[in-house]
Amino acid sequence: MAENLITESAKKQLDSIFESLSVVAEDTHVFVCDMRYDYSRWDKKLVETFGLPGEYMYAAGNIWEEHIHPDDRKSYSDGISAIFDGTQKGHDIQYRAQKPDGEYVICTCRGIAVSAEDGTPVYFGGSIRNHSQRSHIDKLTGLRNQYGFFDDLKGYIKNKIPIRIGMVGIGKLTEINEVYGYDVGNKILQTFGRFLMDNVTNRGGTYRLDGSRFAIISTVLSDEEFKKSYEDIRAYFRKGINVHDNADIIIELNAGMLSLDDFNVDDQTLYSCLNFAYEESKLNKHGDLVTFHNDLTGENRRSLEMLHVIRASITQDFKGFYLVYQPVVDAKTEKLIGAEALLRWKHKDYGVVPPDLFIPFLEKDPLFPVLGEWILETALKDAHKILTYVPDAVINVNLSYAQLERSDFKEVVWRTLQDTGFSPKQLCLEITERCRLLDMELLRNIIVALRAGGVHIALDDFGTGFSSIGLVKSLPFDTIKIDRSFVQQIEEDEKEKQLLTSIKEMAGIYGAKVCVEGIETSGMRDIIKNFSIHSFQGYFYSKPITIEELLSKLKSGSDCFSKA
Ligand code: C2E
Ligand code: CA
Ligand code: CA
Repeated sequence: MAENLITESAKKQLDSIFESLSVVAEDTHVFVCDMRYDYSRWDKKLVETFGLPGEYMYAAGNIWEEHIHPDDRKSYSDGISAIFDGTQKGHDIQYRAQKPDGEYVICTCRGIAVSAEDGTPVYFGGSIRNHSQRSHIDKLTGLRNQYGFFDDLKGYIKNKIPIRIGMVGIGKLTEINEVYGYDVGNKILQTFGRFLMDNVTNRGGTYRLDGSRFAIISTVLSDEEFKKSYEDIRAYFRKGINVHDNADIIIELNAGMLSLDDFNVDDQTLYSCLNFAYEESKLNKHGDLVTFHNDLTGENRRSLEMLHVIRASITQDFKGFYLVYQPVVDAKTEKLIGAEALLRWKHKDYGVVPPDLFIPFLEKDPLFPVLGEWILETALKDAHKILTYVPDAVINVNLSYAQLERSDFKEVVWRTLQDTGFSPKQLCLEITERCRLLDMELLRNIIVALRAGGVHIALDDFGTGFSSIGLVKSLPFDTIKIDRSFVQQIEEDEKEKQLLTSIKEMAGIYGAKVCVEGIETSGMRDIIKNFSIHSFQGYFYSKPITIEELLSKLKSGSDCFSKA
């Protein structure tokens, strides 16, 4: 090293590069190396934090390597060698580095080599982020936590850096904890976090989000590489890992992914969409990687962007949101006995957007419960007006499973009923099969408490999922709403008739009434009338209409929807 001392002019050049990088460094620590002399200048604060010899160093890479955790050293030194021998242009690597007091902290280092005209690398410069500075570290795994994840995500959005984000979680961790104890659960989390970090190495950052879920953010991995990586990790854990008395524990994973290349979004919208993809993987895809496609609405209406605007509308006094009502009629008399409130959102650029295009993605969003409260309150206020024409009408309001999860959910219902002076007996809350994502005991307690207070509970979309029957067996429902897909072909299909008979009988066993949705023709109505169903809903009677339209129809009497 001594035989190749840096010249005065080369040092000046190094300083000026260092200074120009420092201007844009924000809260990271800059380093620049003149590779011809292996002479570097490092950010003073970093030098002090890690007790390095000085701002200027020969062979800084070797000095720094001494500070890196032995388990992380190989991927670090491989990365550096590849840059020095010119096989790689840059790196984006995460490792643990030791401070003078012995504590390891997670650092991410991003650097790039600059070559001379003949292609030989001359400078290697970049920045190191010391993540311990803000307590953004998960104690158990040593990985960056949810705060770190959001911090980084915001940074990528702000600087318009395209990324891919993955969410990977361990299935059935609760059961593992119950069967083997928390120590084993913790060990699995540590092993998994470590494995994920090793697998991603210098291709992105690894985070532990909460409980059993982890995330990866990468600027370099392609969709295919992401998928391949996930399949490798999945195969490894499926073979079983040995953390308990030599017994292998088989671990199943779930994963969701999305790409960010449109920056008119915020971190929370992205997170909600990522969450949606993850839950899809868990619920409906047996753990296969589910990609959130940013073009769900077609016609070039970018759904991420739209979701972002929808979220913003929630915070702007629910701007653009309104409810429409679809009549529910008595199956025998065809008189109106109630109505179902259905959410809409209207915007100058997107037109009227039906709920299927946004509710599923926002269900887990921290803003959703606020919207849910607004829906309930608005529906009950409108329902009062319906009661002037049909005093014993029941108003149906749809719930998302995430609303039920909130500890204050019951209070919200009681308070809204009280504030609007509405009778609980005339409110029916509809829940769907998605609520099986919740803890069954919790769900049962909520339903039992609400019913004890007079509120009706309906199971919506019966027959669209796998566990409808299971739900009817384990939870007490007042009404079962049969999805229209079950009766669509009933005019031609004998089997649909038999199925309807069976469902009707099953509902009878559990003391629930049956409502058939999606009655579209008089033919369907005539056939289904023979099944002693309680109520009907469908386009045949009415499409969802505004409260004003509904009231103006009701003026002529509750039989205004009956058809000959
Ligand atoms: P859902 O609760 O099953 O609501 C019935 C859906 O079927 C409505 O679509 C309605 O317009 C449509 N529909 C009714 N009759 C017929 C028919 O005869 N034929 C056909 N083809 N369709 C019919 P919409 O309003 O687009 O709602 C879709 C879903 O969005 C709802 O399905 C519900 O799951 C969800 N949703 C709507 N409003 C809310 C809400 O306020 N909160 C929550 N959490 N979810 C909501
Ligand atoms: Ca419904
Ligand atoms: Ca339904």
